[in-house]
Amino acid sequence: METGQLYIVATPIGNLDDMTYRAVETLEKVDLILCEDTRETQNLLNHFDINTKTTSFHQNTRQKKMLDVYKFLQQGKKVALVSDAGTPTISDPGGRLVEYITDRDKNIKVLSIPGPSAVVAALSVAGFPANKFVFLGFPPNSSGREKFFKEAVNYDKTVAFYESKHRIKKTVNNLAEVIGPRRKICICRELTKKFETTYRGEIEQIQEMDIKEKGEFVVVLDYRN
Ligand code: SAM
Repeated sequence: METGQLYIVATPIGNLDDMTYRAVETLEKVDLILCEDTRETQNLLNHFDINTKTTSFHQNTRQKKMLDVYKFLQQGKKVALVSDAGTPTISDPGGRLVEYITDRDKNIKVLSIPGPSAVVAALSVAGFPANKFVFLGFPPNSSGREKFFKEAVNYDKTVAFYESKHRIKKTVNNLAEVIGPRRKICICRELTKKFETTYRGEIEQIQEMDIKEKGEFVVVLDYRN
């Protein structure tokens, strides 16, 4: 019997032209696609004329479903995991599944179908050293926020994190409070999309810019003074 294969498939973060050939081929050939949100993924599948069966797989997916996926893979089936956008497991569901599968059966292949990820896209245009970097996910909403920023500004390498439109201005002010006005930051909004905007400069200059509080954001912080 063939060994099962779990494909971790990256999908576009906005621009559908960023879908890779391998991603399309893989989503066409697998027996099942695990989706963070099946409706969101269905739009992508419709665009590429892919008819593969989907099922939901998100942060709150229970152990029982992981076991079902595991058994399915053990039968030699091919399964793809996607998130709503970008690379699954990067601040997205799926990490637990990969751990669950790799801990249990070394014969099941876990394969990467790489592609877009907002953090890497942002680092690539920020203009700060990215030979080493730290990615911090999302800052906490309330408690722990100050600690998060204090840690973020103390690394001796470029730091990147995600932030929501509701807190992006607050975050710039938080950074100003913690490191002062001079450190350089780059805020990438709506990467790869129609209204892609990059705000660059010292924190003080960014505070004076009219950041549009709409869309998706990545913040990149230079570690040099
Ligand atoms: N796994 C995804 C990846 O690899 O990019 C990230 C998923 S995380 C739940 C979603 C966050 O990523 C958004 O809130 C935003 O901070 C960032 N993001 C995703 N797409 C983006 C885009 N097109 N432009 C800027 N930030 C984006």
